[in-house]
Amino acid sequence: MENKNLIFDYKNFLNNGKTERECVSQIIKTAEEAGFKNLYNAESLKTGDKVYIQKMNKAVALFTIGSEPIEKGMNILGAHIDSPRLDVKQKPLYEKDFIVYLNTHYYGGIKKYQWVTLPLAVHGVVCKKDGTTVKISIGEDENEPVFCISDILPHLAQEQMKEKASDFISGENLDLILGSTSPEESSDEKSENKDKSSAKNEILKILKDKYNIDEKDFESAELEVVPAGNARDLGLDSSLILAYGQDDRSCAFASFKALLDSSDFTKTACCLCVDKEEIGSVGATGMGSHFFENAVAELIARLPGEYSELKLRRCLAESNMLSSDVNAAYDPMNSNLFDKDNASFLNGGIVFNKYTGSRGKSGASDANPEFIAKLRSLLDGSQIKYQMAELGKVDQGGGGTIAYLAAKYGMNVLDAGVSVLSMHAPWEIIAKKDIEYAYKAYKLFLNLE
Ligand code: MN
Ligand code: MN
Repeated sequence: MENKNLIFDYKNFLNNGKTERECVSQIIKTAEEAGFKNLYNAESLKTGDKVYIQKMNKAVALFTIGSEPIEKGMNILGAHIDSPRLDVKQKPLYEKDFIVYLNTHYYGGIKKYQWVTLPLAVHGVVCKKDGTTVKISIGEDENEPVFCISDILPHLAQEQMKEKASDFISGENLDLILGSTSPEESSDEKSENKDKSSAKNEILKILKDKYNIDEKDFESAELEVVPAGNARDLGLDSSLILAYGQDDRSCAFASFKALLDSSDFTKTACCLCVDKEEIGSVGATGMGSHFFENAVAELIARLPGEYSELKLRRCLAESNMLSSDVNAAYDPMNSNLFDKDNASFLNGGIVFNKYTGSRGKSGASDANPEFIAKLRSLLDGSQIKYQMAELGKVDQGGGGTIAYLAAKYGMNVLDAGVSVLSMHAPWEIIAKKDIEYAYKAYKLFLNLE
């Protein structure tokens, strides 16, 4: 029964959170309903208090204050809420031979050829000069249009099919079809409107009428192109979920839910959801920023006793963290890419990844065996399955997470998350059971002494 509710909530989280902004706003809404308050509105904090702090609507940290002094450290679940996608450029609209396009620049590690001929939606914000923000979501409702990137028909693709997969379609050509017109309408010399961009003008008129956006307003917009449609059960047995953005919203959801559903902590419990992981954790909202450190400083400033930087440093250095991020699931169709003994499997439980990185562990955050032993003993007494894994075979590639940036403070960090098949594809695959294992493991972890 619990499983059913958890999966229902998870799908809703994915459907309502297709961008980092949408994730932050639904996390804050749900948290507020559960009694969390904006940290800036709290003058002082005591054991049991629940607070959150957000940055630029794209990163959020939530805390439930424990009974132990904060210098003893926190138990932190850290996930990212950005996912690979196509971002709309700042001067995106153009018309070419009677078709209107929206120009994009892809974000994160994508296989570009996977993004053509799919129904796509546009989500994001347009910030206007008058200080107002227009929220955009087009393509999710059945009654709304979707968008699409076209591809070459097989009949004319003999040259394309000889290219490397990375060159099937160029990044510059990943542009969405926004509208169309007939050649007659566009080139009618006798008509009053000799402007060749009549189809583009038509699109601009719709943008003005429906959303009150001018072409110049794209300059201050943050629009993301994502696969249109909801999360679906996958397989006749419905054991899997097919959905966009499960890296890393599967772990973000399980982490957030674990914090929400627990109380009476000894150590202060934290769920951190950051942005920009997919492009190197850069910027003010990424893990490479001071966002988290500043959030903890604000927290300490409101706890009993004097604020001091030493307290902050001790708190961070004494903390435990699970870097809640996904792992690559063993793929039977491409088994040569995996060391089967050291791979994670769908339905195999939460994945512990001692180190990430690539080619000789470069860029890795190597978790301490002492810490792993603690977690093993925590989970072995429960019904929760876990699996130890690396991401693929040695020298096949690799990847990083936010773990190494948290480890800088001297805390214990282990990568621990959900196993994903077709990671970074427009539609990614996870097992329902693994969401449940992750959620339960995260809950136990938040009570780690
Ligand atoms: Mn990830
Ligand atoms: Mn990723």
